[in-house]
Amino acid sequence: MLESHCPICQQNNQCAMAYGQNIENCWCMDTGFSAAQLIEQYLHQHPQISVNKQQCVCRSCLDNMAATQLPSQACVHIYTP
Ligand SMILES: [Zn+2]
Ligand SMILES: [Zn+2]
Repeated sequence: MLESHCPICQQNNQCAMAYGQNIENCWCMDTGFSAAQLIEQYLHQHPQISVNKQQCVCRSCLDNMAATQLPSQACVHIYTP
């Protein structure tokens, strides 16, 4: 099942959606930053990676994204995908 794997590192992403639950139950909604936004930004910078809209990344990849992208958070407001 593709939804249960991180598209970046291919590990299990522990996403609630992969278990047939609502996205609101997923850890990715509870991280303090917008996972969807981070992923979108990441994909913009890495066009070779394709991510299903219904697919989460894993926690460590999201942490990675946050670490590399949050310093430029000031740009987020003017960023339009
Ligand atoms: Zn990952
Ligand atoms: Zn998720």
